[in-house]
Amino acid sequence: MDYLVQAWQSVGMESVTGEAQHHARLSDMRWAGQRIDAIGPGTLPGLARLGNLVRSVRTPEFEGITLHEVLTKSALNHVPATSAMLPGEWTINPYRGCTHACAYCFARPTHEHLGLDLGADFDNQLIVKVNLPDVLRRELATKRTLPERVAFGTNTDPYQRAEGRYQLMPPVIDALTGARVSFSILTKGSMIRRDLDRLAAAAERVNVELGMSIAFLDEELRHTLEPGAPSTAARLTTLRAMRDAGFTPTVFVAPILPHLTDSTDQIDTLIGTLASAGAGTILPTPLYLMRGVKELFFTWLRHTHQDLIPAYADLYSSGSRTPRPYQDLIRARVNRALRNHGLPLPDFTASDRFALLGKRSIPAPPTPTTPTLF
Ligand code: SF4
Repeated sequence: MDYLVQAWQSVGMESVTGEAQHHARLSDMRWAGQRIDAIGPGTLPGLARLGNLVRSVRTPEFEGITLHEVLTKSALNHVPATSAMLPGEWTINPYRGCTHACAYCFARPTHEHLGLDLGADFDNQLIVKVNLPDVLRRELATKRTLPERVAFGTNTDPYQRAEGRYQLMPPVIDALTGARVSFSILTKGSMIRRDLDRLAAAAERVNVELGMSIAFLDEELRHTLEPGAPSTAARLTTLRAMRDAGFTPTVFVAPILPHLTDSTDQIDTLIGTLASAGAGTILPTPLYLMRGVKELFFTWLRHTHQDLIPAYADLYSSGSRTPRPYQDLIRARVNRALRNHGLPLPDFTASDRFALLGKRSIPAPPTPTTPTLF
């Protein structure tokens, strides 16, 4: 975490604003020795503007993290048809911000809409939609046409640590299953193992696709880039558990880091390990650095691999993505490894990557004007 803290600070992003630090200090004093600390609305300026803040919680289990419990007005989010990612699809995000704290996370800039920063605030100021299951049940009961399918994990991780405390996913899974809405879940969280029995039962009624994100075998490298996420070993165990529960999980090998994890041998070893652990399909993605995140990542690079800065500056000179020739090189290495380990090649032409490599949902029930809940 030290690298990231330095990165946030070096680009002028303190972990909390001065006002927030003041509130945090006050709350520390007021509630010292108690398990839960509720700070009044207005804890952070941007959150106060939301007007739906129930309370802000600090608790010893989440040291350094503030959990802002809010009442959400909607559960199902329809991605605009003009969006570059998942156009026209439906998503659900129980949390905003993510304590997995991945340095490269492309969701970071979404925190700025809350008046929070995309650095440490994204990791430590977590928004929790505590009424999400109720709102979802209401939406499923009243919508004239239900979504064919819903994606989880497209913005922030639904099985990050806070899910152990709030347990929002079990009732959400039940609600979608009861309404016959298929869904996919992409996570780095080993906590999904808690719900595998429930997910397996759901899969008997709707299409359920599970995905894990695993990109690093070097645990030290993983820890500096994903300091709040489960270890690779824990994720491999989770992958096996998904397989044992009857799923054919997709593994997102993302990000592949130029000059750090992209050699032919490194890719082959990683894919071999994933195949042995039960991966059904692999979806590789070279490092993508969007606005704001790019600066943070380069700060991380300065602290950890200064010698690589010129190479990265060259690769990302024209934007967020690596140039096409580099992508083609990685694809060739990945495809060779997939063949070596008996895994199918990814279908990059599939427009339906939402559903984890183009797998279609089962057909929606005819005109569900009165959906059945449970
Ligand atoms: S787990 Fe996903 S959402 Fe969470 S910080 Fe990492 S990349 Fe972002």
